[in-house]
Amino acid sequence: MLDIAQFITRSDNFAVLLHDPTSGKTAAIDAPDADPIIAALKERGWTLSHILVTHKHLDHIEGIPPLQAAYDCEVIGPEASAAETGMYDRTVKDGDTFDWAGIEVKVIATPGHTLDHISLFMPSEKLVFVGDTIFSLGCGRVIEGDHPMMWDSIKKLRALPDDTQLYCGHEYTVANGKFAITVDPGNAALKTRIAEVEKLRAADKPALPTTIAQEKVTNPFLRADDPALMKSVGLAGAKPAAVFAEIRTRKDKF
Ligand SMILES: [Zn+2]
Repeated sequence: MLDIAQFITRSDNFAVLLHDPTSGKTAAIDAPDADPIIAALKERGWTLSHILVTHKHLDHIEGIPPLQAAYDCEVIGPEASAAETGMYDRTVKDGDTFDWAGIEVKVIATPGHTLDHISLFMPSEKLVFVGDTIFSLGCGRVIEGDHPMMWDSIKKLRALPDDTQLYCGHEYTVANGKFAITVDPGNAALKTRIAEVEKLRAADKPALPTTIAQEKVTNPFLRADDPALMKSVGLAGAKPAAVFAEIRTRKDKF
């Protein structure tokens, strides 16, 4: 069993640390900034051995150089942004698997937010790290890719086992819930989740991790092929990618 530390840093980024007590290895999922990560490591007596990068945005990689200066750690990142960032010791791409602390990590390309974006799935641990592809009740902005590409990426993650715990790059859950209910107003599970999330955030607790099962029933961006949602946005019978595009565009303006 891994020990997992998750905390909010910068303003709304999540830092996530994975520690394997058997091997002593510790990985950071992305590196939003270094000081809070170093403080969290010291507090727990963990030594950083790896940084696993989901995508090239500055708020996910800015902490890499100071963390490398502080620890002898290997940075594993997406092949597609290796040249641009110049920060990775090892690169991975869609379909690759690699070993971290004796645990199999599967690399799933999830482009759309950025073109280099990857998600990291650990089947034996039932964990997936999705960066800025899916947020709880939301999804990342489609910046470099297009809507059909992002919908395909989300479908790949949606197909993971229901009990997979999903960790993502930002805590936007309350704001996402306010939008989600406008496109899926008849969704009772969504209403329950919004109430739960508001309580958690009011108590300064994170709404993450979530699960694939929970997002499938509550997150409109995983439900672009749900007949009730399609109807509520006036696109009954349309292609799911077009429904996804409609709700993502509405969220951009919300
Ligand atoms: Zn990003």
